[in-house]
Amino acid sequence: MAYEDVYRRSIEQPEAFWGDEAKAIHWHVPPRQVLEYSQPPFRRWFVGGQTNLCYNAVDRHVAERGDQLALVAVSTETDVTREISYRELYREVNAFAAVLKRLDVGRGDRVVIYMPNMAEAVFAMLACARIGAVHSVVFGGFAAHNLALRIDDAQPKLLIAADAGSRGGKVIPYKPLVDEACAKANTPPAKVLIVSRGLDAAEPKIAGRDEDYATLRAAVGDAEVPVEWLESNEPSYLLYTSGTTGKPKGVQRDVGGYAVALALSMRTVFDVGPGQVMFSTSDVGWAVGHSYNVYGPLIVGATSVLYEGLPITPDAGIWWALCEQYGVRTMFSSPTAVRVLKKHDIDFIKRHDLSELKYLFLAGEPLDEPTAHWITDAIGKPVIDNYWQTETGWPALTLLPGLDMKPVRFGSPGFPNLGYRMKVIDESTGEEVGPCKKGVLVMQPPLPPGCMTTIWNDDARFLSSYFSHFKELLYSSLDWAIRDEDGYTFILGRTDDVINVAGHRLGTREIEESVSGFPAVAEAAVIGVADELKGQVPVVFATLRQATDEPHERVQAADGMRRTVEQSLGAVARPARVYIVNALPKTRSGKLLRRSLQALAQGADPGDLSTLDDPNALEEVRRALQRGPEVGS
Ligand code: ATP
Ligand code: MG
Repeated sequence: MAYEDVYRRSIEQPEAFWGDEAKAIHWHVPPRQVLEYSQPPFRRWFVGGQTNLCYNAVDRHVAERGDQLALVAVSTETDVTREISYRELYREVNAFAAVLKRLDVGRGDRVVIYMPNMAEAVFAMLACARIGAVHSVVFGGFAAHNLALRIDDAQPKLLIAADAGSRGGKVIPYKPLVDEACAKANTPPAKVLIVSRGLDAAEPKIAGRDEDYATLRAAVGDAEVPVEWLESNEPSYLLYTSGTTGKPKGVQRDVGGYAVALALSMRTVFDVGPGQVMFSTSDVGWAVGHSYNVYGPLIVGATSVLYEGLPITPDAGIWWALCEQYGVRTMFSSPTAVRVLKKHDIDFIKRHDLSELKYLFLAGEPLDEPTAHWITDAIGKPVIDNYWQTETGWPALTLLPGLDMKPVRFGSPGFPNLGYRMKVIDESTGEEVGPCKKGVLVMQPPLPPGCMTTIWNDDARFLSSYFSHFKELLYSSLDWAIRDEDGYTFILGRTDDVINVAGHRLGTREIEESVSGFPAVAEAAVIGVADELKGQVPVVFATLRQATDEPHERVQAADGMRRTVEQSLGAVARPARVYIVNALPKTRSGKLLRRSLQALAQGADPGDLSTLDDPNALEEVRRALQRGPEVGS
């Protein structure tokens, strides 16, 4: 079927379209009404329908595919691989749900899950879904401060934590972080459930608060816990945004709309069905992890591969070895991860038999062309750029190979996904801009099923953050975009990442893309720094594919970057200064922290660093600023 026809139907006849798609999931009670939209922009999908995410992800498949693998959890940190069938998943999720019941967790209660990519994190999420508890997974790499913020916002009855995480072989005990977070929080949970892998031997328990999962798991045995049927619009989970631009927002998701959107996207976007294998390298703490490590693949009866560890351990071929071993059909990762692989020999990828692999999807940040070309060459399969936000929960701009594969156009994540009414509009007039003209990417409500329903406990912030930017009631993505004549959309960066050079407005992302075009560059961040004459000037921080201390090589690289930008974007965009560093500051989800870079470059306080991944990267930048830019011709 042609994408255009299906898309048109999803927009022009949303109720008929989504009414049909709803049949892909199990309803205990079918919906009474497909869409209720009496209080824009709030909307309710599948009103009156009763369903359950856990039932759709687990119970429904046990009879037909009980022995098929549901989850393969591979850890190169602990060197443990767990292959879990649908029948075993059913057993483990029921046991976990029984433990939750013992701890007095029920429908509507919040549960914070602070765990790395281990099988029990998936059991815990599904167990919450089973009993109608609202989970909020907090990325295991976050520090106590981040955890405390999220605890105070979500007010959980229970916190489930691993005893420890591990990164590059270094064990990071979670218990001290949990204790610190609970001490900092105004509303700490009454109970903390520790799932121990024996990584942290010390781990003293706080009497009355801490419970040991293994002990309770043994006590409940093979208990079965009935599914709690939820109205389609009840909350399923909360997930906080990355916090790249400020205080994270607690994105709230529903039950029925989310299940239907995931089922549709598994078929039309990811092209993965029952018995097939999907491997997403995301963390369960991110949106991709929720949708395509846990719920999406399981809802359609596929096998999900979950990975804990670095992409280069034991060597840079590990992910491709897993693709080969499990016959992965669709893989999902991020540009950041590919840039890590790009520093290693391409043969680590090429030596594996990837005959089962059909596509690689990449999401989370801009995919620069050199990286896209490199990975396309390495795997010899379509590499599909995927644009979405924690808010959307599933791809908003994408190609849909499961429906109608259009040619990949490098630099573009493709077309609006089914049900997404997207426009590119002028930021001041609100009018739609023509082809190849830059504007703000917006969505016309009602947002499709699966997208956020509100910000947890804060409808006002939901309205002010997303719907208050234009005269017309529109959801602002807060990202710049252009659409070419053929409808391919290109993302040009965040609306707050624009610099003004002598009256010319330049997107930092465009300059970054250009800098990355110089072959020696691994990754680049561009910011605007105040300048007396021009208002602002572009300043580049770049890492090289082959790090070097040779002054003339560094100068050569910096010259190359300046030349490349001048040739592609004109003299006005020519970087005023180029700093070569060994690492760039990023959030824990791999996004460049430009606001901190900018502050440092202007001698200001780098601001909230709670989402910073690697403190060394910031030190790198400080040292580079002290040393001064690479000065060339
Ligand atoms: P916060 O909203 O808290 O500042 P965040 O926006 O980084 O954090 P996410 O929801 O994880 O949180 O990221 C979504 C954003 O990531 C998008 O709005 C966009 O800026 C960027 N992004 C995601 N995918 C792509 C892509 N394929 N191309 C370009 N940018 C992308
Ligand atoms: Mg955002």
